[in-house]
Amino acid sequence: MLTDAAEAARRLADGGLVAIPTETVYGLAADATDPVAVARVYDVKGRPTDHPLIVHVADIETARRCCVLDSRAEALSMLWPGPLTMILPRTELVPAAVTGGLESVAVRIPDHPLTLEMLRHLGGPVAAPSANRFGRVSPTTADHVVADIGTLLDPVRDAVLDGGPCLVGIESTIVDLTVQPAQILRPGAVSGQLLDRLLLPVSGSPTAAASGPSRASGMLASHYAPARPVQLVEREERDTIGNDHTAVIDRSDDPVEAARHLYDDLRRADSQPASGATTITVVLPADDGGIGTAVRDRLRKAAAPRDHHRTSRDG
Ligand code: AMP
Ligand code: MG
Repeated sequence: MLTDAAEAARRLADGGLVAIPTETVYGLAADATDPVAVARVYDVKGRPTDHPLIVHVADIETARRCCVLDSRAEALSMLWPGPLTMILPRTELVPAAVTGGLESVAVRIPDHPLTLEMLRHLGGPVAAPSANRFGRVSPTTADHVVADIGTLLDPVRDAVLDGGPCLVGIESTIVDLTVQPAQILRPGAVSGQLLDRLLLPVSGSPTAAASGPSRASGMLASHYAPARPVQLVEREERDTIGNDHTAVIDRSDDPVEAARHLYDDLRRADSQPASGATTITVVLPADDGGIGTAVRDRLRKAAAPRDHHRTSRDG
C-alpha cells in the first residue's frame, strides 16, 4: 500500500494500475491514454470490454482535453471537484478502449486531496471504474480493495493508494449531457433538484429520467451485491423484523451516514458468522430526492435477483 502520490503517478505513467481513494468509492485507475493499461483494468475487474469507464481528471483544463463541454456542462462544472459524472462527446485524446467504443465519455473531478495530487503529478487523465470485482459491493477503504483484488495486482508495477475511508461512500451521480433534456443515469450525492437548479437558467429544461438502452450501473437490475441474500424494509415496518437468522443494518435515521457506511456495513454483514445469520436485512432511508434516494437505489440493486448478474454488463 502507498501513501505517496508522486510514486503512484510514476506507476501509472509506467503502465501500472493504481487503486485510488475518492470521496465516492475507491477506483481502479489506469492512464486513460494507454489502451494496454486500460485493458488490464477490465481484466482485473472481470468486466466486459464494451462497458465504459469513468475518466478522472485533476482540473477543468484537463477535462477540456478529454471532452467537449457545452453550456450545461460549464454550469454543472461548479460542482467539481465532487460526486458528479458528466457524459459528454469525447476528444481524440480518449481512446475507444476507455469508452467501450462510444463517441461519448464519462468525466469527473474527484474530491480527494491525495488523488488530486497524484493526478497533478501525472499531468493527464486516468480511467477508473470501482476497484471491485464485477457486480459486487464497491470498496470504500484501501483494505476493501486489497481483500477484493489484492492478489490480482502486480506488487511491483501496481499499487493501492491509501487515502482513508471514503466520505460519501456511494458512487457519483451520472448525468448524460449528450441528450436534451439531460438524463440522470445513476442517482448519487448530487441531487436532481441541485442539477435542475443549475441547468434551468442555461438550458430551459430540467433533467429527465433515464430512458433508452441501459447505459449505467444505476440502470441495471442487479448490482452492488453481497454474497448473502438481502431483504429490505421501510422505516415504518422496522419493528416487524425478526432477529433470527438475519443480520440487521439500520442507519435509516441519517441518510448521509447510511451512504458513508453502506458498503462496509454490507461487507461486515456478509462476513459475520455471528448468530448463524444467513440473510441481511437493511432498513431503507427515506426517499428524500437526494442521498437517501441514491442509497435506496443501491440497496434495490443489492437485493435484486442474482441471475441478472450473468447477463448484466456492468461491474
Ligand atoms: P463504475 O465505473 O462501475 O462506477 O461505473 C461507471 C458507469 O458509468 C457505468 O455504469 C457506465 O455505464 C457509465 N458510463 C461510462 N461512460 C459512459 C458513456 N460514455 N455513456 C454512458 N454511460 C457511461
Ligand atoms: Mg462499479
